[in-house]
Amino acid sequence: MIEANCHCGAVKIFLKQLPVSYTECNCSICRRYAAQWLYVEASEVEITAAEGVIARYQWGDHEIDFCHCSECGSVTHYCSLPESDSSRVAINGRIFDPVMLTGLNKREFDGEAM
Ligand SMILES: [Zn+2]
Repeated sequence: MIEANCHCGAVKIFLKQLPVSYTECNCSICRRYAAQWLYVEASEVEITAAEGVIARYQWGDHEIDFCHCSECGSVTHYCSLPESDSSRVAINGRIFDPVMLTGLNKREFDGEAM
C-alpha cells in the first residue's frame, strides 16, 4: 500500500499502486495549486480524515470538488461529483515523497482556456 498525507497529517491517502504518469495542467486553478495530478479510479484509493477536516472548493462547471486540508492548507486531491458521470479521483502528487514519483511520466495538459 502506498501512503501519502497532507503536511500536518490530518488527511491520509492510501493507494494500491501508482499510475504510470502524472499530469500538470495550466488551467487557472491547477497553475495556482501547482498540482501534479495522479489520476485513479475512486475504487483504487482510500482517503481518511476526521470529519470537517477536508475543505472543498467548487469552480467552473461544478463537476469537481477540489479538496484541501483545513488545518495545513495542503491541496490533497479532487473528486468528481455525481453530476459529472465520472468516478475519477485525482491525487496531488506533491503530497508524496518526491522519490516515489521519479519513475512516472509527466504529461502536460493544456487547460489554459478553462
Ligand atoms: Zn493537513
